[in-house]
Amino acid sequence: MFARPLIDAMEFAGNGRELRGEVPVEALPRLGDMLVDSQGTVTYVVRGFRTDDSNILEVSLSGVCHLRCQRCLGELEYQIKVTSRLKLASTEELAAVDEDDEDEYIEAASQLDVIELVEDELLLSLPFAPKHPDGTCVSANEGLKQAANPFSVLAGLKKK
Ligand SMILES: [Zn+2]
Repeated sequence: MFARPLIDAMEFAGNGRELRGEVPVEALPRLGDMLVDSQGTVTYVVRGFRTDDSNILEVSLSGVCHLRCQRCLGELEYQIKVTSRLKLASTEELAAVDEDDEDEYIEAASQLDVIELVEDELLLSLPFAPKHPDGTCVSANEGLKQAANPFSVLAGLKKK
């Protein structure tokens, strides 16, 4: 089993706390459709600190997960490496955040679920359409078409 810590976000940031841990990929169900399998582990470090005008949670993630390549639909080993800084905000402040604001905000919950936070940040960081490098795999559709087309099979025979 892994720990599922809850933190008081404001207290955590105000006192400059830090929390490290590991969570198996299989414990992050919202990644589901993007994965080929649920192998892998994510290591997280959550660091709290205070700047002049805000309280910040910095979330750093590293590890490996197995995404599905959108070209061949095969396994793509993905190295997770992301750090995000989230400004703590009250519910009212969140509602007032300007859409053009480039900062990321998070509600300053007193029972913030760290694993939920890790899952959120990981989801945001994953590529929208992950693929193997160009030329290293073929489209699953192409592969099917070629296999199903008798003419391409004949053409292949004639060459011999
Ligand atoms: Zn591929």
